[in-house]
Amino acid sequence: MQRCLIFLLAVAGFMTFPVQTRAVTGETAEFRKLADDVYAYVGKLNEANATVVVTSEGVVVIDTGNSQPETRNLLKHIQSVTRQPVRYVIISQNHGDHIQGTPLFSPPATVILHQKVARDWLAWKPHLIKVWRKRFPERTEALKDFLPVDAVASFTDRLTLRLGGKTIELIYVDDTYNPGDIAVWLPQDGVLHGGFAAYKERHPDMRPDYSHGTTWGMLKQLEALIPLKPKFVVPSHGPVGDVKDLQVMVDYLLAARQRVRAMMDRGMTVEAIRKEFHMKEYAGWDREIHLPIMAAALYRELKGEGPEIASVVEKQIRGKILKIQEGGVYLTVVSDSGQELPLRVATVADVEGIPDRSHFKVGMRFTAIYEEQKEWNEVLEIKVEP
Ligand SMILES: [Zn+2]
Repeated sequence: MQRCLIFLLAVAGFMTFPVQTRAVTGETAEFRKLADDVYAYVGKLNEANATVVVTSEGVVVIDTGNSQPETRNLLKHIQSVTRQPVRYVIISQNHGDHIQGTPLFSPPATVILHQKVARDWLAWKPHLIKVWRKRFPERTEALKDFLPVDAVASFTDRLTLRLGGKTIELIYVDDTYNPGDIAVWLPQDGVLHGGFAAYKERHPDMRPDYSHGTTWGMLKQLEALIPLKPKFVVPSHGPVGDVKDLQVMVDYLLAARQRVRAMMDRGMTVEAIRKEFHMKEYAGWDREIHLPIMAAALYRELKGEGPEIASVVEKQIRGKILKIQEGGVYLTVVSDSGQELPLRVATVADVEGIPDRSHFKVGMRFTAIYEEQKEWNEVLEIKVEP
């Protein structure tokens, strides 16, 4: 009963905080030259960024684009500046919007990622592998019997890749809850692909299950990255910045921690803190929707508690789409029995009946399997009816 109530409260919270996008990048992705043979692929409307390093011995791609059209667009840009093949894909963070373009390049490209991420990939459920294989129809043949881990090379601490005269350093900053996020540093060019720690003008996506790490872990990463004094920082999302933006993120995280700490000192409950928490001095930043969830994550972290382990219930629904937000990431639907429900369709969800989630239309009928999670209902498979 209590669980059910918590869930309803969470849903209510979701409803009262409309999904907001304050895009700070343009409506089309930009392929921007940062240094000789180094390019940033700046995602449209604050979508995930990528970095490209061209060498005489092949191309290195760091993160792989937010959606199929974006990954194909990234590849087209690469082919416009070189005839070299993509030889390595480096994954800076294990989230759908950074990893799901990988099957366009690999095989044959080798995928380099942290050992914690490799362990996660090894444990993938069959539906995730299915989505991986069919993500790019033009790659069906190449991926027929392929497991995503088949082309993986993993590392634990640091790795230096020397390729065609370029030095590429992969940096992992250890802490218990770092899920395998890394930064990639090009010392010759002063370019840093900052990974998860290097958010720019976007509220970070911290969660009570620590699936994206902790603010403490982020601060530890930033502390290791700032002394590199990068001239260019390619953040996980948002426009290209520089070392100053890393310092802004440090100030942001310290302020957020202090704010939650002060509310805890006043004896406030986590529910009350979720409601009252704000980062008004960063008005205009993207993804305000992250704030109440970040407050709950900080509450746990500052109490010294480990990650929240939520029991996940798998459910089915048949119904109709009422509302679409964020290009199909968030749906409000009504079931055939009249229950209204928010659904989240992540990049890893298996979408059938339409090319991808951007093709959802209000009024479409569907069946879906989803996991009832605390903050939202995470879709595993959704089939749109013809
Ligand atoms: Zn992302």
